[in-house]
Amino acid sequence: MKGLFIGRFQPFHKGHMAVVEQMTEECDSIIIGVGSAQKEREINDPLSGGERVDIIKKVLNNRSPLPFEVYPIPDINCYPAWAHYIKAILPPFGRVYANSSVVLRLFEETRIETTEVKEVNRDEYSGTEIRRRIVEGEDWKHLVPEEVVEYLEGINMEEMLKPTIGISSETEKKAAHLLTKNDHTISTAESCTGGLIAHRLTNVPGSSMYFLSGIVTYSNEAKIEHLGVDKNELQKRGAVSAEVASQMAEGVRRKMGTDIGLATSGIAGPGGGTEEKPVGTVYMALSDKEEVRSRKFHFSGNRWEVKRQTSEKALQWIIEYFE
Ligand code: ATP
Ligand code: MG
Repeated sequence: MKGLFIGRFQPFHKGHMAVVEQMTEECDSIIIGVGSAQKEREINDPLSGGERVDIIKKVLNNRSPLPFEVYPIPDINCYPAWAHYIKAILPPFGRVYANSSVVLRLFEETRIETTEVKEVNRDEYSGTEIRRRIVEGEDWKHLVPEEVVEYLEGINMEEMLKPTIGISSETEKKAAHLLTKNDHTISTAESCTGGLIAHRLTNVPGSSMYFLSGIVTYSNEAKIEHLGVDKNELQKRGAVSAEVASQMAEGVRRKMGTDIGLATSGIAGPGGGTEEKPVGTVYMALSDKEEVRSRKFHFSGNRWEVKRQTSEKALQWIIEYFE
């Protein structure tokens, strides 16, 4: 019997290998379906379909005792038809190995046998976790088969992930365009984002037209000294508050003499959260010559994801300001 295992394999890791090993016991041939095959070079989908097919073939050539085939599978948006579509484009298979209840149910409806795979060391054997580790420079190589390490080093996956992660160049370009078109200058005062917003505002060529200065005021003292944030307010409300973010935005705008001042203050985690202000709480403020406005956000995800989402919201606010 042919067994089918579908995943995105961004990248193929030891958890996937465990599924292949389980299939080896129960099937006599293996089909691997590489999902979202049309995607590549995106934050959650860095590897192309072709690269993923290559990687899996390299691993299974060395490790699979059974014959195997690897096929790219593009996404289709019409979900109920998805399982039928997979059946139509792949060679006949008798059983699907999956973990997602949606995938299992869709195949059951087409009268294909399904096996729910057991998750192995899911905290670490996870594509999301491995990509995060690569981005943050933590150890990840022990989580994937050796062949995968070799391949990813060959295509310089670490470098590939770094500049693209979390960056929607579209929002950067749009914010840049609107600032330039409206002849507005901007300065930033960042805390939890550590300069990411300034980085993103300067990603676009010609940014010197609108971006004058960015300051990272991480400590309370820096907020007081460089931005003129009121010490009492800081003590009373805490650095992560609408009042302090507003004073930061106002402070940087005045100091740098720009049309707009933008500020962020938040808790990126993993520590530092409280019941009232859990990890992911971020205040943002935008000041212009008329007024200061502030917004509160609650983001989920790890430290990097909080920073990334904060920067994205900041750029979106600039766009919204002009639209
Ligand atoms: P991502 O975090 O990018 O979604 P992933 O680790 O979930 O990556 P996928 O490519 O989405 O990997 O995985 C497809 C399937 O692989 C999952 O639905 C699941 O059945 C199986 N799988 C993934 N990780 C493990 C694991 N640690 N143990 C067992 N099976 C796993
Ligand atoms: Mg997954």
